[in-house]
Amino acid sequence: MANEKVEFQVYNSMTRQKEVFIPKETGKVKMYVCGVTSYDYSHIGHARAYVAFDLLYRYLKYLGYEVVYVRNFTDVDDKIIRRANELGEDPTALSGRYCQEFLKDMDDLQCLQPTHQPRVTEHMEQIKEMIAKIMANGCAYTINGDVYFSVDSFPEYGRLSGRKLEDNRAGERVEVDSRKKNPADFALWKSAKPGEPSWESPWGPGRPGWHIECSAMSAHYLTHSFDIHGGGMDLTFPHHENEIAQSCAACRESNISYWMHNGFVNIDDEKMSKSLGNFFTIREVTRLYHPLALRYFLLGNHYRSPVNYSISQIEIASESVFYIYQTLLDSEEALSAFQQGTETAKNAKGRVTPQAQECINKLRNELKTKLSDDLHTPTILNAALQEALKLMNSCLTILKKKQQKQQHLSASLSLTELLKEVKAVLDVLGLLAGSTCAEVLQQFKERALKRAELTEEDVLHAIEERALARKNKDFARSDQIRTDLAAKGISLMDITGTTETAWRPCVRSIQEQPAAPAQPKKSAAAVQEQPVAPSQQKQPSAAPQQEQPAAAPAQQDHPTVPPQ
Ligand SMILES: [Zn+2]
Repeated sequence: MANEKVEFQVYNSMTRQKEVFIPKETGKVKMYVCGVTSYDYSHIGHARAYVAFDLLYRYLKYLGYEVVYVRNFTDVDDKIIRRANELGEDPTALSGRYCQEFLKDMDDLQCLQPTHQPRVTEHMEQIKEMIAKIMANGCAYTINGDVYFSVDSFPEYGRLSGRKLEDNRAGERVEVDSRKKNPADFALWKSAKPGEPSWESPWGPGRPGWHIECSAMSAHYLTHSFDIHGGGMDLTFPHHENEIAQSCAACRESNISYWMHNGFVNIDDEKMSKSLGNFFTIREVTRLYHPLALRYFLLGNHYRSPVNYSISQIEIASESVFYIYQTLLDSEEALSAFQQGTETAKNAKGRVTPQAQECINKLRNELKTKLSDDLHTPTILNAALQEALKLMNSCLTILKKKQQKQQHLSASLSLTELLKEVKAVLDVLGLLAGSTCAEVLQQFKERALKRAELTEEDVLHAIEERALARKNKDFARSDQIRTDLAAKGISLMDITGTTETAWRPCVRSIQEQPAAPAQPKKSAAAVQEQPVAPSQQKQPSAAPQQEQPAAAPAQQDHPTVPPQ
């Protein structure tokens, strides 16, 4: 828990401004985030929403709040039924399967499990009860077994989205129906159609409309009055507008303090959509890139701004996370070696350098001030964290130099403290892996090989071939081998003072990107969000620097033999 008092500000979509976050009950936060409709693999738009709210969840906990976080599954819906019919599968079985796939994606992205993950099919009683209350309060009507919410009964309708009732088209998931009193009226209960899953109700067999589930399940787990309701910006209307109307119609005291919405994901500066064919599932991305790279990419943009996903952006993010973990591993190994080699280290007097202390203070301070400013993650990743990593690498350089022995103690103490602080920051951001640094780096390398369509044996063979060419003074050949590998995202590093060569992943040249749906465009905004490359570091010489901004490669002074 943070010791200093932090004034946490969040942007409230309802008031359209940043507000100081004050929970209804001191020390406790109740939040509800709209979950997925489980009929297919989730896409990177979903990844963005749930990484954003996972960060919020983690930060609230870091601030010392006791948080109840509810994220639902829509497991009965038109889309699920349609897909199940196409596949000849039972709708409940299909949605159950994709709920599991979603949970795997969330695990991969290091999104913490919410406190409750309710499913619609398991909350029919609560849903029917709420519809009955809305009916009893005169805000809904039935037509042949369908129940509709009457928007005219709720004068505040449109307050969240800023839409006037007369401008409204019917909700996207509600068919235009001339029987309705107002075209904007939406279904609370849909009468059963042949071959569809249905439940008994006072209005006849049927199933709930889409919007009522979130009102009913949030009220069930969090009561009618809670702190935060979140979701993607596209849910503002009609989904959240309808939720507010339903909840207030069922209970006058219904009140949500803060509405928070995350921005869209664009692909190569175009809106991501299935029809445009520029559609990426989380699974497609994490097959070729480490899930931490995707999380880092998403956190590298403020959660409310649109993000532009492109192959070059995910490659840069991947490079940045590799650099972080290489620095962590190098530091752990150097500190372990230093402690073993210097028995007097524990008793010797030394201190953290003023520069390191300043860097630690800055990182700690930036984490709090930036996250408290409506979760402003990019500055932390691109500035304060990079400075700390750079300083850690400077400490590593000192520890390697035999002639600077008198500085070793303060370098090792500084490195110890920097390592601790960087890990703490990564933990709050959800970027600290559960496995060891060596394992994480190995996972990055496995994916780099997959992207290059090479095996590790292929790379080791190329390294041998290059060594032979160099021995024979055939430098044209040895350069060619290195250039060819770099174009595929494999960088070779000759280890100083030995004849050995190691390899690591690097950013590929744009021409070599097989999965890019279009040539990535570099907008000014995208360039601003890119990680700052530490100035003292060099991109491995064969890497295609002219095509890609350098993004914090592992320092060449500390090459590491690939873990076996
Ligand atoms: Zn919802």
